[in-house]
Amino acid sequence: MKRIDWNIQYLSLPPVIKHCKKCGKKTEFICSGMFRINAQRKYLDVWLIYKCSNCNSTWNMTIYTRVKPKSIEPKLLEAFHNNDKELAERYAVNLELIRKNGVELGYTKYKIIGEDINFRIPVELHIKSTYPSQLKVAALIREKLNLSQSSFESLITKGLIRGDTEINLKKCRLRTEVIVIIDSLDWSEVAFALAL
Ligand SMILES: [Zn+2]
Repeated sequence: MKRIDWNIQYLSLPPVIKHCKKCGKKTEFICSGMFRINAQRKYLDVWLIYKCSNCNSTWNMTIYTRVKPKSIEPKLLEAFHNNDKELAERYAVNLELIRKNGVELGYTKYKIIGEDINFRIPVELHIKSTYPSQLKVAALIREKLNLSQSSFESLITKGLIRGDTEINLKKCRLRTEVIVIIDSLDWSEVAFALAL
């Protein structure tokens, strides 16, 4: 069995979905990758700045609120001041923090980087994301292999595409890694799957 890896490459920091007061509806707020720090004598606040994609209104996601400046490591504080890219990404994908702020994680544009599958030899496919992704595994496989919904479901029903564990491939989300087994298909099955 041949191992193939697909890595999800994100093209931007994920936005959040929230109600925009100015727009009067739920909109997508784009992550600026910039921090805002408010340091008063006793307390420190740190936010990650977002902007409404529709009207440019700013919304700040709370990271720290009213903490003692000494309780944050100098290195971390410096990274906030320098708008460290990796640090911004870490907060922008932190589901717990996003939920705590009462907003939802939005949809991020991505590319699937990895070899194609020709169905001639069995494959152990590892689909990986650098952070817990909400993307549906079925959608990723269908997109990359150019499969219609019905051909994909038929391959699953026949057991020719399956998870390496008891996962529901029609519904499950990627998170950080999913392993999928794809059997070799005979010509008629390939023709059917790809609707040739
Ligand atoms: Zn707006």
